[in-house]
Order: sequence, then C-alpha cells, then structure tokens
Amino acid sequence: MLDRTENIAAAVDNWLTQFEAALAEPDDGALETLFHADSYWRDVLALSWNIQTINGADAILKELKTHARRAAPSGFAIDPERRAPRKVMRAGTNAIEAIFKFETGVGRGSGIVRLIADLGDGNTLKAWTLLTELGELKGFEEQLGTARPRGNAYSRDFRGPNWLDLRKASAAYADHDPTVLVIGGGQSGLCIAARLKQLNVDTLIVDREQRIGDNWRKRYHALTLHNQVQVNHLPYMHFPPNWPTYIPKDKLANWFEAYVETMELNFWTGTEFEGGSYDEKEGRWIVTLRRADGAKRAMHPRHVVLATGVSGIPSVPDIAGIKDFVGKVMHSSQYDDGENWNGKRAIVIGTGNSGHDIAQDLCSSGAEVTLVQRSPTLIVSIEPSAQLVYAPYNDGTLEDNDLIATSMPLKLARKSHAMTTEKSKELDKDLLEGLARAGFKLDFGEDNTGWQFKYLTRGGGYYFNVGCSDLIVKGEIALKQFADIDIFGAAGARMKSGETLAADLVVLATGYKRQEELVRKLFGEAVEKAKPWKSASAPSGALARRRNCATCTRVLGNRACGSSPAAWRNAGSARSIWRCRSRRSRKGFCRATSGRARRLDESTN
Ligand SMILES: Cc1cc2nc3c(=O)[nH]c(=O)nc-3n(C[C@H](O)[C@H](O)[C@H](O)COP(=O)(O)OP(=O)(O)OC[C@H]3O[C@@H](n4cnc5c(N)ncnc54)[C@H](O)[C@@H]3O)c2cc1C
Repeated sequence: MLDRTENIAAAVDNWLTQFEAALAEPDDGALETLFHADSYWRDVLALSWNIQTINGADAILKELKTHARRAAPSGFAIDPERRAPRKVMRAGTNAIEAIFKFETGVGRGSGIVRLIADLGDGNTLKAWTLLTELGELKGFEEQLGTARPRGNAYSRDFRGPNWLDLRKASAAYADHDPTVLVIGGGQSGLCIAARLKQLNVDTLIVDREQRIGDNWRKRYHALTLHNQVQVNHLPYMHFPPNWPTYIPKDKLANWFEAYVETMELNFWTGTEFEGGSYDEKEGRWIVTLRRADGAKRAMHPRHVVLATGVSGIPSVPDIAGIKDFVGKVMHSSQYDDGENWNGKRAIVIGTGNSGHDIAQDLCSSGAEVTLVQRSPTLIVSIEPSAQLVYAPYNDGTLEDNDLIATSMPLKLARKSHAMTTEKSKELDKDLLEGLARAGFKLDFGEDNTGWQFKYLTRGGGYYFNVGCSDLIVKGEIALKQFADIDIFGAAGARMKSGETLAADLVVLATGYKRQEELVRKLFGEAVEKAKPWKSASAPSGALARRRNCATCTRVLGNRACGSSPAAWRNAGSARSIWRCRSRRSRKGFCRATSGRARRLDESTN
C-alpha cells in the first residue's frame, strides 16, 4: 500500500501531526509510541541550542521533553517546496524519508524524518532517524529575493555618497572595527563572510596572500579540484553550468576574486594576522594585523573566525642523517614545479595526496622518482570510486542534499561509508592488486570507513588516483618503505639492505601540524587549552568532534547560521570546529572554515 506516493505522504503527515501533538503534551506518553527503540534524534540548534545526536528512544524522549517546553515547536508539515517524501535506502536500511518544516518560538527550521515499520508493534511506522535543524531566526531573516535591499541609502540622495563611496568606506575601516574578523580568505572564509554579510553583520576578511585566490594559484601547476563541480559551489552564487567537471586551480582562484566583488565582501589582502587575546572586561578581542606595507593595525572585533585551512604549519619530521644530505630538501608546501628537476633524481617521502601528486609531477617532468611510504595509505580512483560518497548529490537540489547529509547520525554515516568503501574496493580491484604486488601497503580507514572519514578525522592519509598509482604499478615511479631506510647521508638514503638510494632532491610530503598548534601560536596556550570551539555536549572522541564540526558548518548553515554547501562543508571545513560563543568560554571565537553565526550580536546561553 505504501508504494503509492500519496500514501507515503499521508503516512508522513500522520506521523508529523502526532509528533507535534505529543511535543505539546510531552508527559502523556504519546511521544513514546513514535520512536523505534534504536532511533536517533539529531538536533542542530533548533530545540536544544546545541548540535547533538541522541541515540535510543528513552534518551530521545527525555531530551525532547526537556527542550520542547522552552522551544515551543509547532507547524510541523511536509515542505511542499522541497523533495517529496519517498522510499530510500540509507546505510543499508529501507525507509520512508521526508523533508519537513517547522517553527519554534525564535526561529524557523527544516528537518528530515525517516520512518520504518516496527514489526513488534503491528508494523506501525515509527521514526528511525529524526533531524531538526534551525534555518533562520525570526527578525533576522536574510534579505533575499523579494526582501532584497532597496538601495535607498545611495539612490535617493543625489548629493550623498553613492554605492561605490559606501563600498569603499565600508571596506576601509578608517574609523571603526568590524564586528567579526575572519582570518583567511579561502573558500571557508568567503562562505562565512558571505553569510554574515547577508545577516548584516559587519565582517572583514584578512588574508596574508597578495591577491584573492592566491592560496589556489600558488599550488602546483597541474592542480584541478578533486570533487566534481556540482559539490563545490559557494553560497548564493553557483558555478556556471558550462564549467568543467573538475575546476582548474586558477579558474577557481579567479572565481574567488569575482565572488568577493559580487558579494560585496570586505577583504584585506596582504594582511597577516599576527596574534590576539581576549579582553574579558570589554568582551572583545584585541588583535594585531600586519598590512602589506608593514604597518600594524590593532583591531577590537567581538568575534574572530579562524579560517586558515588545514595546511597551517608544515610538519617536518626529524629524519636521521637528513642534515648531512647535500642535495635540496623541501617540504611539500615549498614545491611548485617539476621542470627544474628534469633528469635529476628525487625522493618523495609521504604517500598522501601531496606526495603522490608531486611524485607524478616530477616523473612527468623527466625526473627519476622514488616514492617512500611511511604508513599504509588508502588509495581510491578519482572516478568513479572517490565520487561515490557524493552520489546522493547527483540528483535533487543542493539544499535538500546538504540537509540529507546533515541528517545522518555518525554511527549510520560510518556504516554507510563502510559500504561505499567495499564498493570502491571492488571497482578498484585491479589497481589495488597491482599496488599490493608493487609492495604498496594499503589501508581502508578505521573500520573500513574510507577516505572521507580519514579526511574528517585526520585531514589526510589517502590518495585519489589521478595516475600516480598506475605509474607505481608500472614501475615508472619506484617505491620504498620508510622502515627500510637506515639513515640519510650526503648522497641520499642508505637502505638497511646496504644499497644507497642516490638523490638530488628530497621532498617531505609529510603533512601539516594539527590546527591546535596554530591556535596556540596565534592566541596562546590559554585559548588553545580552553578549546572554545568544542561542543559542550558532543560525544567524546576525536571522531565525534570532527563529525560535529563537519555538521555544524552546514548547520550554522541554513539561513540562520550560514554554511558552505556540499563538499566544502565537509572537506573545506574538515578540521575546523565552529562553535561561536561557546557556553564554556563565551568568547566570540570560532575555529571554522565556514558557517553561520548564531546571532552573533546577541549573547547565547
Ligand atoms: C588537489 C586538491 C584538490 C582538492 N579538491 C577539493 C575539492 O574538490 N573540494 C574540497 O572541498 N576540497 C578540496 N581540496 C581540499 C582543499 O584544499 C581544502 O578544502 C581547502 O583549501 C580548505 O579551504 P580553507 O578555506 O579552509 O583553507 P585555505 O584554502 O587553505 O585558505 C586558508 C587561507 O588562510 C590564509 N592564512 C593562513 N594564516 C593566515 C594568517 N596568519 N593571516 C592571514 N591569512 C592567513 C592563507 O593565506 C589562505 O589563503 C583539494 C585539495 C587539493 C590539494
């Protein structure tokens, strides 16, 4: 009977009606009948003012009762403007999935409910997963569409400042400081600044690079994005439909410039953030910026967003004997082009994306390359395997798909990713067998959860094969294990076998230090230790924190709080945790790459 769309919608309607009634009378027992024993409720600020996932009917009921009275949720209904309720398979389970809308006393939100039949209770449809996400705060709606600004400030007074005068004054900060200072103008900084601009929060981005987009322009020559164009959009302004599937770095860099101009973002290039501390008495930060001409500027923003990316401080291991090596040693962050190494011998240490890409670049430039593996690495072909996790984005709208991704509880997301990893292994069977034969040590992530969880938990440890793995299989790039190196000497690496691996260049593709190191460097130990970005009620453990972070960038992301869409939401923000004005610190410090402020000018509780 539930095969028909109208029946599916009626079943969802019925559940939502009962849910709303039960929330209004949370003590009368009706709520209990609506959830499976092993169900999940994920709340993104809507009812709990927190980002949290509760597992198990008893715990969910307790939490719902606690928050429903205060939040006063109402108006639960299928959202006719979004994807219609349908049957889906998520994490191996068949369910009815529906997107709904609702309100609370202070805001409007969206949610997703997945219903499955309870075999032990007459096949009654009960919630298996429920998401409630705050979208916008009443009174702080974004000025979009028919609510767009009218431009009266610069179009009615013919003798007053025009639009350009006001833009220049806004970006100059000659006589005032911004409310929010965003450090770093990569896509994460741009996303959050664009969202804050829409909320009329005075925001300045600073970046040490001389030109917007240089963070991409200066990367290696052949770079194109790894995710497909449809999952790399920035908020409000999608990439044109004729753009290539994999965006080249310089094209993306130029788009960033156009984006800043079009979205009217205040952006200071050539400006390095040197450090800051929090003034408890004034409730604001004191920060020092160094401008392109060397001049210093002190600012007092109420909030600071650290959007400095995952590649902050290079991690340079202390390799025995490397100081005696007479050739050139560089970290991967210093590598730009293989042309200079034509005919030379290179050792690349590290088998993440950078190590592989640099090895391939050197090889194609005519160098003789040996890749040195330090630990087992996850290899996945860029197509189709690496794109499998984004398969849900291949149809439907970006907004619906982001909401669906946000709705998956960590435990189910892990299960789902483990299933995808199995599929990747089948698809990449020949490649993986070839690599194993070449002596490459493979791994598939904790509990087989694959590349995306590796990115979310440690920011690397995998390679999307765009050709380097094939070169290793064919023997065109040699492979050695780090454990087989005895010590470096003047000529290169002396192996435990007695052989010497002679080289002119050693590239240390050994990654970057944890972001905590950067926080300590810029804000001091006290701020690092306080971890103001950490969610007070997040499940414990690094993985859980990462998950929370990945989600909150979206969260803070609908209309109330801002976000980067799709891939940037996960990848761009992977190791950043957005937690504005946490209960613990009450300081407006966010370590994030994107996201929306939860009413940045109001105190939170
Ligand atoms: C080959 C390749 C392909 C990739 N493909 C994708 C993809 O398709 N999708 C995806 O989501 N991710 C992709 N990534 C990952 C991508 O690099 C990161 O997601 C992204 O760069 C992170 O963006 P961000 O804004 O957080 O940081 P960044 O882009 O690193 O920007 C940080 C900015 O902060 C500035 N900064 C740092 N410190 C300071 C300071 N003290 N003062 C002032 N400014 C400072 C830097 O100059 C920089 O501009 C890819 C990476 C590579 C190498």
